[in-house]
Amino acid sequence: MNSSNLSMAESIVPSPYIKQARDARNSRENQVKQLLEQRKLPPDGWDDAAIEGFLYELAMMDSNNFQGNIGAGEREARIASDFVARRHFRLGHGVGRSGDITAIQPKAAGSSLLMRLTNCLVLDTIKLAGVRSAAACVLLPVATGMSLVLTFLTLRIKRPKAKYIIWPRIDQKSCFKSMITAGFEPVVVENVLEGDELRTDVAAVEEKIQELGSESILCLHSTTSCFAPRAADRLVELAALCKKYDIPHIVNNAYGVQSSKCMHLIQEAHRTGRLDAFVQSTDKNFLVPVGGAIVVGFEKHFIDDISQTYPGRASATPSIDVFITLLSLGASGYRKLLSQRKEVYEYLSAGLSSVAESHGEKLLKTKNNPISLALSLETIVGEATKSKALAGDTDEVDPTETTELGSMLFTRFVSGARVVASGSRRTIGSYTFINWGAHSNHYPSPYLTAAAAIGMTKDEVDAFLKRLKKVLMKFKRKRGVIQEVSQSKEEQEKSDRPDV
Ligand SMILES: *Cc1c(COP(=O)(O)O)cnc(C)c1O
Repeated sequence: MNSSNLSMAESIVPSPYIKQARDARNSRENQVKQLLEQRKLPPDGWDDAAIEGFLYELAMMDSNNFQGNIGAGEREARIASDFVARRHFRLGHGVGRSGDITAIQPKAAGSSLLMRLTNCLVLDTIKLAGVRSAAACVLLPVATGMSLVLTFLTLRIKRPKAKYIIWPRIDQKSCFKSMITAGFEPVVVENVLEGDELRTDVAAVEEKIQELGSESILCLHSTTSCFAPRAADRLVELAALCKKYDIPHIVNNAYGVQSSKCMHLIQEAHRTGRLDAFVQSTDKNFLVPVGGAIVVGFEKHFIDDISQTYPGRASATPSIDVFITLLSLGASGYRKLLSQRKEVYEYLSAGLSSVAESHGEKLLKTKNNPISLALSLETIVGEATKSKALAGDTDEVDPTETTELGSMLFTRFVSGARVVASGSRRTIGSYTFINWGAHSNHYPSPYLTAAAAIGMTKDEVDAFLKRLKKVLMKFKRKRGVIQEVSQSKEEQEKSDRPDV
């Protein structure tokens, strides 16, 4: 209700009550005013009523909700199911216009405002998380792999002679496929083993640049967040090479926003060398359903170019989800999630270390990977395989052994932990990777990885470690690594049950 309607209400309800209602309303209006003025994360999160009220107002600004509006075009945001309309808060026009995903849509002032505000809130969050000099960003309604495709295609216009993308190996399919889908030839640079860690071979990257010549290289495609024992790439050294040879540098920061270390690497690489843009997933960093990714750059025009490479309009859902989430968390809420994650990482690291010790294994030393941890399975899987090898069965680690351990965890409701051993090959496109999953042609031992990702709690870590211990014991018994302890059938069944 606007001010004059409230005044009229005073003839129905005594004016002191209306006055109080007016004050309460004004404080919500002020929240909106601050958001529009500052275009930053609110210091503290909004309550759901405020967010819902604001979304409703935005929806009423779109033509599909105008009273008496006649839509005479072929796309008028008509929605058959009211259930669907409510699922989208009656916003139906999506975002963008045919030639630019960040363009204002004349029929949809509310949706356009939401999209622009979301990009502002995201940029502020990226700065809060550590990349202070980020200049612009765009939330795309496709996941990280597709957003990388769009970024590469944008670069292609500027580098018509380029054929190759240099890529320090990371065994994740979507980022590899993004280069092939964009029509480029990935030049895979193997990692080097330093202690337990797999690290970027900077010298090999430079050799490749010299061998191919900068003009034929579209960009260097590096990675921060990844599974241990691979470390975040040596971004500062890579950025120095990109500056020296004048090659664009795109970083896959899939789940790196949640780590101050990944964000610091990006900030430093940009400050001292060349880094054009970094790409991250909305679901992995902002706890929303899968659907979007964010491309952040240091030059506004590059991000504008990417927005203009996107053909057509797009779903507003990924923007709406992030908009709601960031308003609801506020700066304090997101900071809290970041600091909780750091604690959970330390907690998981200590817990895995003690599991390792009790099995004569070790937590691999991967201090340059701030999110993922790896536990060696030298005796647990290795021994089982060795006894098989003695029997003349096989001469290397049998991948089925490790697959079995992984699936034992999965059936006990542990998802996301991966068991990796040498021996598996994977062909993607026309490329065959040896030891796919291990980021390396040779890694000395089989291992298990687990991640301390944003949102994970200490209770979840406790439950995970408990199930892991059970599974490791059972696996060893089964494989004859330790003697079968006589156990009644009942006991065995009991120990099989997940404690959920
Ligand atoms: C999640 C992830 C991606 C992207 O996967 P999408 O499904 O496209 O979001 C790329 N690289 C790494 C390392 C990832 O973890």
